[in-house]
Amino acid sequence: MIIGVLALQGAFAKHAKALEKLNCSVVEIREPKDLIPCQGLILPGGESTVLSRLMRLNKLDIAIQKFAHKKPLFGTCAGLIVMSKSINSNQQTSPLELLDVAVDRNAYGSQVASFVDKIDLLQPSIQQIPAFFIRAPKITEVRCGVEVLGRFKNQPVIIQQKIKGVTHLGSTFHPELTNDLTVHEYFLKLCDVLV
Ligand code: GLN
Repeated sequence: MIIGVLALQGAFAKHAKALEKLNCSVVEIREPKDLIPCQGLILPGGESTVLSRLMRLNKLDIAIQKFAHKKPLFGTCAGLIVMSKSINSNQQTSPLELLDVAVDRNAYGSQVASFVDKIDLLQPSIQQIPAFFIRAPKITEVRCGVEVLGRFKNQPVIIQQKIKGVTHLGSTFHPELTNDLTVHEYFLKLCDVLV
């Protein structure tokens, strides 16, 4: 399976490592044509305002929106922010509007308030997995069609939405910073049904 990882800014290298451990080929995405061989795409954490600006500059905003009509996207942290419909406290990011949620940026505080803890997954199976929250957003509103796959202190931290047969995934935490591959493995299953 070939998966793209948006490599304009932020935490893309660790996502690539996690995918390689699951026997995927990884393509670093820097321009629209890089998307051609990919069966799915990860938008990593970083800084959503910068990510969004660089996507626009590289004409990747429109290319990714088109890609998302046919293939799954997985946004982590800033990646989730960029995929959301509404972003509180931010005028500078142009959201891709693929996940019908509202998010509040930096909702746990600044970098020093970053933490690792266990979250409660409901899907793909009920279990606890470790998760890094780094200047993480909170999902403040989950609208119709969005499914909550996991919670931390009862708040949704991983969600999915199916749009015309394609399921997109988003997490407020960084699954790529732990050795637990559950979330990446689940994303690959979402990509695989389309092969
Ligand atoms: N706080 C960052 C933002 O608003 C996201 C942080 C992250 O991706 N780890 O974009």
